[in-house]
Amino acid sequence: MRGSPARSTGSSSSSSRASWPRMDGAAAPSPIPYREKPTDYWPPYMCHCQQKAARWISWSDDNPGRRYYKCLRARVGGCRLWDWAEESTTTPFVRSLLIDLRDMVWKFRREKEEMVAAVVDAREKLEETRAEKEAELQAARLAMQAKDHEVVVLGERVNELNRQRAILLYALAVCIGLLMFCMLKTNVL
Ligand SMILES: [Zn+2]
Repeated sequence: MRGSPARSTGSSSSSSRASWPRMDGAAAPSPIPYREKPTDYWPPYMCHCQQKAARWISWSDDNPGRRYYKCLRARVGGCRLWDWAEESTTTPFVRSLLIDLRDMVWKFRREKEEMVAAVVDAREKLEETRAEKEAELQAARLAMQAKDHEVVVLGERVNELNRQRAILLYALAVCIGLLMFCMLKTNVL
């Protein structure tokens, strides 16, 4: 039974992927991590590289839950070995049940990823808003400091004017005094 069937497989690989967009099985992740590692089986099934092949689980629509062999290094230059590990024993009912469960798991994962992305997005927006408000606050603080400085300068100016007015008043009083003194002196003479 060698060779790839037209609809091939998902696998039980636990390697992480960025997203779970594909539902046709070929590159989609396994809905469940299987308890055995892909090489934890006996007797060994050798691939064309003379190495123990990996045994994965198909999650395709046609063969959900059916195991198959594939070169362990297929993605990094290994051979093209692909073979079912067992005859299909699944009934149509169990097959549709497995597919429904698989789809449900994928759906939940997708929803979870969307929710996580939404939370991350909301956090970023919140941080942006916070930074904007912080900048506005800082600008308001600087404006306030500038106003305070203006008030101090105006206060100094007022003090200076008051001082000048006092000098003028004093000079005026002295002039009036002198004038009255002169008038009195003239009257006496
Ligand atoms: Zn190989």
